[in-house]
Parts: sequence; C-alpha cells; structure tokens
Amino acid sequence: MSQKALEILNSLYGYDSFRGHQAEIIEHVSAGNNALVLMPTGGGKSLCYQIPSLIRDGVGVIISPLIALMQDQVDAMQQLGVKAAFLNSSLSHSEQNIIEQQLMAGQLDLLYIAPERLIQSYTLDLLERCKLALFAIDEAHCVSQWGHDFRSDYLSLSLLNERFPAIPRIALTATADVRTRKEIVERLSLVDANSYISGFDRPNIRYAIANKTTAKKQLLDFLKQRKSEAGIVYCLSRKKVEDTAAWLTQQGFTALPYHAGLPAQLRQTHQSRFLREDGVIIVATIAFGMGIDKPDVRFVAHLDLPKSIEAYYQETGRAGRDGQPADAWMVYGLQDVVRLQQMAQGSDGSEQFKRAERHKLDAMLGLCEVTSCRRKVLLNYFADNAPEQCGNCDNCQIPPETWDATEAAQKLLSCVYRTGQRFGAVHVMDVLQGKETEKVLQHHHHQLSTFGIGADIHEARWRSVIRQLVVRGLLRVDIEGYSALQLTDLCRPVLKGEQSLFLRIEEIKAPSAKKAGSKSARKAQIQPEDQELWDELRECRKMLSDEFNVPPYVIFHDATLKEMLDTLPTSEAELLTITGVGESKLEKYGGDFLDILRRYAEAS
Ligand code: ADP
Ligand code: ZN
Repeated sequence: MSQKALEILNSLYGYDSFRGHQAEIIEHVSAGNNALVLMPTGGGKSLCYQIPSLIRDGVGVIISPLIALMQDQVDAMQQLGVKAAFLNSSLSHSEQNIIEQQLMAGQLDLLYIAPERLIQSYTLDLLERCKLALFAIDEAHCVSQWGHDFRSDYLSLSLLNERFPAIPRIALTATADVRTRKEIVERLSLVDANSYISGFDRPNIRYAIANKTTAKKQLLDFLKQRKSEAGIVYCLSRKKVEDTAAWLTQQGFTALPYHAGLPAQLRQTHQSRFLREDGVIIVATIAFGMGIDKPDVRFVAHLDLPKSIEAYYQETGRAGRDGQPADAWMVYGLQDVVRLQQMAQGSDGSEQFKRAERHKLDAMLGLCEVTSCRRKVLLNYFADNAPEQCGNCDNCQIPPETWDATEAAQKLLSCVYRTGQRFGAVHVMDVLQGKETEKVLQHHHHQLSTFGIGADIHEARWRSVIRQLVVRGLLRVDIEGYSALQLTDLCRPVLKGEQSLFLRIEEIKAPSAKKAGSKSARKAQIQPEDQELWDELRECRKMLSDEFNVPPYVIFHDATLKEMLDTLPTSEAELLTITGVGESKLEKYGGDFLDILRRYAEAS
C-alpha cells in the first residue's frame, strides 16, 4: 500500500520522497484510522489527506473554513488530473446541482466543503448516500474557543463521529499548543486517533526585530532590497494600512491596501492581484492572511507588534511556504508595548483570562528584547527543542551589543520618583537632560536633585532605556493617568544597587539584511547570465497561468523553474525528473517549457 502512495507521489505530484511524517500519516489514514496532524505551514499537510483519498474507495471530503481558497485548491488538483470540486456559498444553484450529481455518480476524488454547508441536514443526507473515503478537517484549531480563529460551526463537527463512525477522520492544523490539541481531539471525538506532531521550525524564514525609530524609512530600507518580490506588510489600524499603502505606491512599489473596512469587491480584487501578479505587496490588518495559500510570499513585515507569539508565528508563517528563503521583519517601540499592555488589562474577561493574555504578551515582548537567538525563543515557546544558535536570525548574524545600564536606570528611576510618578516619558527625559522647558519650570523640576543628571546620555538612548524597563516590568505606564511613568516593585533591587542591568544598544544600527548578507544570498539565486532564461521561463508560466486562469504558482513553483534553469532538461523524460513536474503537468505544459529550454540549450 505504501508502494501505491509513493507511486502517486512520483507520477501525480512529481515529488521524489515524502517529508517528515507524511508517509506514516498516509499509511495510517489509508488503512481507515483517525489522525491528528500538527505540521508547520508549508510542511505538506494537504498530501496527508489527498493521497489517502485517492488510495481509498470513494470521495475524500475536506472541511475547510477558507472558502476563498477552495477555488485555488480545486484548480491545483485539477491541474494534476485529480477530479476535485467544492461546495460553498459562492456557487450558483445550478453549479451546485452539477457537483451534487457528480458526487452521487461517484465521479469525484475530492470534495471541499465549508463547515456551515456540511452540517446542514441536506448535505449530511447526501453524503450518507455516497461512498466516502475520509473526512479531513483542515484548520482544526478553529474548534478551540480560546483561540483567535474560533468558528462555532466547527463545534458541530463532532456529529461526523456519530453519523459516520466507519469513515476515517484526519484533523490538521499548523497552530496548536498542547491544550488546543486536547480540545481538538475531544471536540471532534477523534477516538483512537494517532497524533503526528512535527516541529514548529521554519528554517527558511529569517527573523529580524528592530527598535522602531522612523518606521516608514526603516520599512523602505528593508523593501529596497526586495524590489519585485511579493510580501505582506501588517499594520494594526485601517488608517495606517491606507497611509502605508499610499506611501509605498508613491515610492514606486505595487502596494495594495486590505482591511475589513474596504468594499468586499475591492478587497477581492486586491487579494486576487496579490495571488496572480508577481511582486505585489499587500498592506493589511490581520483581517488578511488566513486563507492565503500563496507559496511564494517572500516577506512578512510588521509595523505593529502582534499580541502573542502564536499570532506572530502564524502571521510570519505566511512567508516562504515554498521553502525558499523568506524574511519575517518587524519594528516596534514603546507605544506598541503600552498599547498592548493596556489591551491585555482592559479586555473584558475573567481575571484568569487577563492573566493569560498578559502572560502571552510578556512572552512576545521577551522575543523582541532577547539578545540571543530568536528562533530558539520562538521554538522553546512551543516546547520545541532548538540549538543555541540558528544562524538565520538578526541576533545570530549580528550579535547585539549590550551596555551596563545600571547607573542610567538608577538615574531614570530616581527621576521618576522625584517628579512624583505623575509625568510621561518626554517630561522625565527633559528633567534628566536638564532642559528648562516651560513645564519643567512650572513644576520647579529644575530644582530637583535629578535635574540634568542624565545630560551625558542622548535622547534616543533614554527612550530605549525607558522602553526596555517597561518591557522588563521595572516601570509601568499609567494609561488612565496621562501615560505617567510609575515605579513597580521590581525596580527596587536595581535602585538599591543589588542588581545590575544590561540593556541592548539599539539606536545605532537597525538590523538590515544588507549587513547580514542575506541580500547577496537571495540575489545569488539567479546568476546574471541566467537572467534571460529565468525571465523567459517566468513569462511562459505567466502565459499559461492566464490561459488556464490559475495563479502562476499553480502551474509551477519558483523552485521548479529554478531547477529547470539549473539542470536544463531538453527531453520529456528529463523534465519529468524535476521536482514538481508530474505526468499531468508534463502533458499540459511540458511542451511550452521544453521549447524554450531546447532553444536555449542549442544556442549555448
Ligand atoms: P501546508 O498545507 O502544510 O501549509 P502544503 O500542503 O500546501 O502545506 O504544502 C506546501 C508545499 O510543499 C506545496 O507546494 C506542496 O506541493 C509541497 N510538498 C508537500 N509535500 C511534498 C513532498 N513530499 N515533496 C516535495 N514537495 C512537497
Ligand atoms: Zn538565531
């Protein structure tokens, strides 16, 4: 039976071997068993239900909340020669009828269904009359009421066990801590299911987090090295989304805004341009992303801080699904920290809930402030093992310098204390630096012992100290009281000189990929002498993509084109050895690509 699975992998998908747990999962599910699969984005979850659906008799039913994605998934399967269809609210009545007929006639291998559609008794009755291979529950974490993607329809999916006890079920997700995994098993009644938990590491993603100074300029410096690459820029507010998109457009980028306040039609247009054109940047609130299956997103940039590591991991995880180098880049500042702390406190929920929120935020801030490997912090958060150094994050590549900030912190904390814990960061810095502003004079703060004791340190450095102290909990910002800085119990050991404090030096350098050499790494992918052929291959793909009305990556991934470039196949047999070229795609597109490759081989 695993022979059969391998054969499908080779001839249909054009891949050589299974990855990670794929083979075990496919074997287990094909034999009629239940499974819970946790695999990072890009890990290859789809194959885990697609191949068993093909091996087993009957149709594989895939339940997914991502309606926008179904068309692409079905297109991609049809390109491989698999009989796939979907049922969701976007279909007309007659379209739906046709699919139901195909289903009843046993003509489908795969059927994608939205959960709200599946649980209708009409659909369930229909399915009861068909031969079913399996149920795959995609994005299974949506069943968790604690998570940010909760879908109430998912709760009803326990009925699958009741109505179809003999049909194997496989639940899949990319984000689930231990508690969520337990919840999935319980709520979906995954009796006797094997769990397959893969690591969380996304080795091709480079993580970089910098102190926010001039956010737009920092973003521009980052993007300048990534002209004509597709990426997502996340902002918190709709206004900032609009502003940033407009500004990037002025700077010569193709940048499109996306947020819940835009008309549905426009959102749709922007999304499909992002999917179908090369090099489009989407500037979005987090409303955008779930259901974006574009494999060649080369970067995810955050201009605002996500509120948890889970959110950060999920959002950055949209980069580099194809396994090629990709960047997760973020800038953040004191305001972000304060805003999120306020949100965690102000959210209406039980004390327990608030404490959990606060805890998650602290972990996120820890990731931002850490001076050692970021990947290690990220993976440890998910209880995953990690080496001390990954070599592919800013801290590994440019180890941050620290300085002994004990004395500076003492000065700052005393100054906060002397001014009565009633003033915000700006005023406290003015006093420290000995500036005789109107406010300073008005409150007689020029007469304080702490007036001017921090004149030797420039303002940017003070800002950085304040932020790092807030993040570490030595200072807090009183939102109700005009953002006044206040001392906490944690600052006592430092004030008393019992504890020294090392902080990162950050105002001088903002980690940029230029220094890290990742620019040369990514540019080195295509040699100048190959550029012409590369462009031609991409043009050919674009032409076929227009002809078949599917996104370019559904034709072939970048990695497949790259392999053509490197190995220059000139026969069908040679082309078939390339990863991502299966029999169906060879037949459909092989000729067009071979024409180009042969012409090129003859000329050189
Ligand atoms: P996920 O759903 O886990 O994010 P996908 O199923 O979309 O990931 O797979 C990510 C990419 O990796 C897809 O392009 C897929 O075709 C490819 N892929 C999956 N399994 C393999 C494999 N065994 N060998 C090569 N490529 C694979
Ligand atoms: Zn690292």
